[in-house]
Amino acid sequence: MKIGILSQNENLYSTRRLVEAVEQRGHEAVVINALRCYMNINSVKPSIHFEGQDLTGFDAIIPRIGADITFYGCSVLRQFEMMDVFSVNQSIAITRSRDKLRSLQLLSRKGVGMPITGFASKPDDVPDLIKMVGGAPLVIKLLEGTQGIGVVLAETQKAAESVIEAFMGLKANIMVQEFIEEAGGADIRCFVIGDKVIAAMKRQGAEGEFRSNLHRGGSASLIRISPEERKTAVAAAKAMGLSVAGVDLLRSNRGPLVMEVNSSPGLEGIEGATGKDIAGMIVEFIEKNAGKAANRRRNDQQ
Ligand code: ADP
Ligand code: MG
Repeated sequence: MKIGILSQNENLYSTRRLVEAVEQRGHEAVVINALRCYMNINSVKPSIHFEGQDLTGFDAIIPRIGADITFYGCSVLRQFEMMDVFSVNQSIAITRSRDKLRSLQLLSRKGVGMPITGFASKPDDVPDLIKMVGGAPLVIKLLEGTQGIGVVLAETQKAAESVIEAFMGLKANIMVQEFIEEAGGADIRCFVIGDKVIAAMKRQGAEGEFRSNLHRGGSASLIRISPEERKTAVAAAKAMGLSVAGVDLLRSNRGPLVMEVNSSPGLEGIEGATGKDIAGMIVEFIEKNAGKAANRRRNDQQ
């Protein structure tokens, strides 16, 4: 098979591992930088050009679209879908998962557990917003943040009010969330492929840090997850329509709570913590699913 990896940087660990896994399993790998693609949108023969060449003959795409290029990256992926190319994750599901508000709304409709969360842009009654989600301590998040930047813990009502007002002053959309203290600065990354959690790791924040992001100095280790955690992670990926997803859970007194669903989960941390060939499993998923008629119908849903 000819498999395209939509990635802006072929030197990234995840991209390198995917190329390696594709080739190891006897397929051809092509790394495609979405930003450099240009498209011809027409009803007879839609096409994509890259480095002066027509990108044809692809059997599947593995999208690794950075959060900073969601719009254009998903447009290029959609064009492949228009050409009936199988994608590990569909453009529509990636777009959904990139919007934290939309994601949590979809998860709530499917009854997936999550921290009590409020959303606001310019709340006219900040104390009431704080009351709505159960009062301080609270986690306040910028909707556009990633890697733990823009996530603040406000321990008192006064601190919460002033942080919310500061963000409002910056005209930022924010999320106000119940603080799950018993998670102890840790979360669980569940790597879902298809309808299974194929690997899981615990990420523990640095000493004194409530954020477990590896980019914020957190450390990863192997963990066994419960059947309920497994079920929750799979349900979350399914609610988003993602076949490959990194589902982040917090362990709370009332069971697993979903914090985020990531459509391009990194491979370095999880392969390192578990020793599993996750890139190989993604390619295996393609081998089993590309080319099915159901996927061509799937591509019609935009
Ligand atoms: P980002 O998208 O920037 O990674 P997250 O929502 O994942 O933002 O938050 C970053 C980290 O902060 C999480 O991995 C988790 O460890 C911690 N965290 C986030 N929300 C909560 C919460 N409601 N209760 C406890 N810890 C939280
Ligand atoms: Mg996160």
